[in-house]
Amino acid sequence: LTAQIIDGKAMAAELRAELRLDVEKYIQQKHETPAVVVVLVGGDAASGVYTKAILRAAEGVGMAVRLEQMPARTSSEELQTLLKTLNDETSTHGVIVQMPLPVQLSQQMVADTVLAEKDIDGISPRSAGNLFLGLPSFLPATAAAVIEILERTHTPLDGKRVVVISRSNVVGKPLALMLLQKHATVSICHSRTRDLTALTCQADVLVAAAGRAQMITAAMVKPGATVIDVGINENPDGSSGIVGDVDFASVQNVAGAITPVPGGVGPLTNLLLLKQCMQGAWLSWQPGV
Ligand code: NAP
Repeated sequence: LTAQIIDGKAMAAELRAELRLDVEKYIQQKHETPAVVVVLVGGDAASGVYTKAILRAAEGVGMAVRLEQMPARTSSEELQTLLKTLNDETSTHGVIVQMPLPVQLSQQMVADTVLAEKDIDGISPRSAGNLFLGLPSFLPATAAAVIEILERTHTPLDGKRVVVISRSNVVGKPLALMLLQKHATVSICHSRTRDLTALTCQADVLVAAAGRAQMITAAMVKPGATVIDVGINENPDGSSGIVGDVDFASVQNVAGAITPVPGGVGPLTNLLLLKQCMQGAWLSWQPGV
């Protein structure tokens, strides 16, 4: 068996084209350009690169985008004041605060301050609560990207066994809840899980997001399973480039479908922020109001 390789780049191109049309339609109907604001406080080289990628992606689909860059010494009050201003700005539809923050600033404060309606990265307690209750909610972008891939590949989930390796707030937990809403039987695994292989071998869909290079080997995968690799890790052999949590070379001979790293989940993540921003923008606007 050779797995179908899920082409995240092609899927991203498709989604980008759909978003471009959606943005055009929104501008025509509302006479306003949907807008995202990215807040970057201090930030290392990596945050700079991530921020630029979000800005480029938003511009690429025709959305308005603004960078609010604040110095590393910014106080909690200063950041909170900016976030409240963005909450009140009717022309701003989505707010993304780039993590990690400088030590004096708390992620919790940010999550508590950004209005749930503008929380397009799904970090606020209200977004998490809505998701928990099965109400419409923004998802953290990576979890949303995994769902997007499963939907676009028409992967059956109803009654299927899904194993998610991660209980993190940004990937594992939101993903598991979303999969539950889609009627999958979900197991959440983590670093204390005993006999991981016994669980992964039963998975019709296996999502690996542990951040452990190539930990999923062919022996851990049920023949024909769909394997989604969220991991981004340095290559253990020391060579440049990144590898996933899945040992792609061996697993592709067992799985039914598999995402590569790079070129799988990664290309979709930022676009899901924008997709969610558009969903929020449409919801906040009703004709004639
Ligand atoms: P994280 O907060 O460190 O979470 C990792 C999770 O995996 C934790 O729940 C941990 O368990 C579990 N885990 C670690 N080692 C394990 C093992 N040997 N067996 C079973 N479970 C194990 O990491 P994260 O921020 O969610 O990111 C996870 C990975 O996804 C990283 O490689 C990251 O670079 C990548 N990522 C990719 C994208 C993308 O766009 N593709 C976006 C975000 C993150 P405990 O809870 O017990 O510690």
